[in-house]
Amino acid sequence: MITMTVIAIDGPAASGKSTIGRMLAEALGYLFLDTGFMYRAVTLAALQQGVDILDETAVTTLARSLDIDVQAITGHGDGRHYTALLNGKDVTWELRTPQVDANVSQVSGYLGVRQEMVRRQRAFGRRGHVVMVGRDIGTVVMTDAPLKLYVTASPEERAQRRWRDRQTQGHQADYETILADVIRRDKFDSSREHSPMRPAADAVVIDTTGRPPQVIVDEILAQVSVINAR
Ligand code: C5P
Repeated sequence: MITMTVIAIDGPAASGKSTIGRMLAEALGYLFLDTGFMYRAVTLAALQQGVDILDETAVTTLARSLDIDVQAITGHGDGRHYTALLNGKDVTWELRTPQVDANVSQVSGYLGVRQEMVRRQRAFGRRGHVVMVGRDIGTVVMTDAPLKLYVTASPEERAQRRWRDRQTQGHQADYETILADVIRRDKFDSSREHSPMRPAADAVVIDTTGRPPQVIVDEILAQVSVINAR
């Protein structure tokens, strides 16, 4: 009998992977870890401390020095799904600004930054009972996860979702700009030298375009039951 302890979910920005991952974690009583927040935290720290984003050595040294942590929500009531801490400070919303969006792919392309973040993510994974979401979880971080999913959707639908999120958060947002950023970031993430975003050979590919998350989650839970019964 295989007992499912890690579910690896990868996919492009705003594909629905976090929503699905969160719902799965809740249904199974697992921890949810959104690994993108770590690369965002390094990017935010570099921007805040005036470290040149194009200086790979400086950004890598900075990444190794940071205290990055995540906490379950505790009654903030502002729509957050977890609290992200950078050197002990709550940066949950600062991680989502367009400035971080615009620079995070550059930072996450650095090998030393990736090695440091992957080491930290594996430590979470070893605890088991975790749904881990990112770009390279099935291909690099948790290669022996018994269930790997690659979640995708059309660029237009993904940009729509981001646009709606921004509106809900009370920010000005231009759909065309967001669409261009989504496409640019996907291209960068999937063509980078180190751990490019792609489905693992043994991943189940799920297209969420026009499909409600609950339907998809129910299908995945059925697969989890099959795997657990083996
Ligand atoms: O998922 P999210 O949009 O928050 O990720 C932000 C960025 O972090 C991605 O565009 C990608 O460059 C990087 N990332 C990564 N590997 C992961 C998770 C995120 O390279 N496992």
